[in-house]
Amino acid sequence: MSSAYKPSRYVSRSRLKVSFEFFPPKTEEMETTLWESVERLAPLEPSFVSVTYGAGGSTRERTHATVSRIIKNTSLSPAAHLTCVAATKPEVDEVIRDYWSAGVRHIVALRGDPVGGVGTKYESHPGGYEGSPELVAGIKAIGDFEVSVSAYPERHPESPSLDTDIEMLKRKVDAGATRAITQFFFDNDVYLRYLDRVRAAGITIPIVPGIVPVQNFKQTAGFAARTGASVPDWLARRFDGLENDPATRKLIAAAVAAEQALDLVDRGVTEFHFYTMNRADLVYAVCHLLGMRPKEAAPSAVAA
Ligand code: FAD
Repeated sequence: MSSAYKPSRYVSRSRLKVSFEFFPPKTEEMETTLWESVERLAPLEPSFVSVTYGAGGSTRERTHATVSRIIKNTSLSPAAHLTCVAATKPEVDEVIRDYWSAGVRHIVALRGDPVGGVGTKYESHPGGYEGSPELVAGIKAIGDFEVSVSAYPERHPESPSLDTDIEMLKRKVDAGATRAITQFFFDNDVYLRYLDRVRAAGITIPIVPGIVPVQNFKQTAGFAARTGASVPDWLARRFDGLENDPATRKLIAAAVAAEQALDLVDRGVTEFHFYTMNRADLVYAVCHLLGMRPKEAAPSAVAA
């Protein structure tokens, strides 16, 4: 190795903030995996951990049960996702009040996908919240919640233009949102160009990049196609030929996600939201490469 090699990317753990996203488990086995993952990631002291809300409110009870268990059994700060699809305002308001009663103080407020699925026309529920800005305002009217919202560096599939998306983001901020979390992306230039446009539109809240470690390339590519995220050819090539080699796939996935996050750190990003898919290993490895260490073992040599 050349003596010119310098690991310049190590950053002080205290400069970085991370959050982790989970989904509510459906089965006992999935429940065990989730709590093992939460336990593994908790010592990294995330700013918050978020729990998704199933399409059309299908996980209402399970989302509530999961955030409640996080509050009761951990010192983590949970953020409960909430959508306004297929529900009246009083029904959504009841969920918000139930979150408050359970001790939740942070909601990720979303419109949600159309009832007919991605690609069909969205119709707001008669008597329901019209869309995400109205939901944000409704949440803030009920309690002093911290509210995060979504952002789409590559345009939401229903959006005619990136400017339309940025106008929507501005409406959500005007209604009280104080953080946006992006849809996942793989091309950091796309995110940074989007950030420039968001800032030019006068939006100053953190736009936290959503990072997805590719646990399964085929599945991620399918999900990307539905959500409007592009999958670069180079990413496909990295997983090419590994269909029957899960061990190598895992190593490549950690390397790819770490490379993306480290490049963002080099370019000034200090906050990350990881889509964990309820699995800790890849995210833990990426955080380690970012210089993060569990609370008990503070970083020493790697911290700049
Ligand atoms: P918004 O930001 O409200 O809108 C996105 C764009 O869609 C707008 O800019 C606009 O161009 C267009 N649009 C919105 N409303 C209309 C309309 N009525 N007519 C025409 N165009 C319109 N989904 C879940 O079900 N549960 C979750 O827990 C969940 N968590 C998520 C977390 C993150 C960080 C992200 C990025 C997405 C998440 N989603 C979740 C997915 C999200 O619900 C979908 O992408 C949904 O289609 C849009 O909801 P939104 O709040 O992001 O949209």
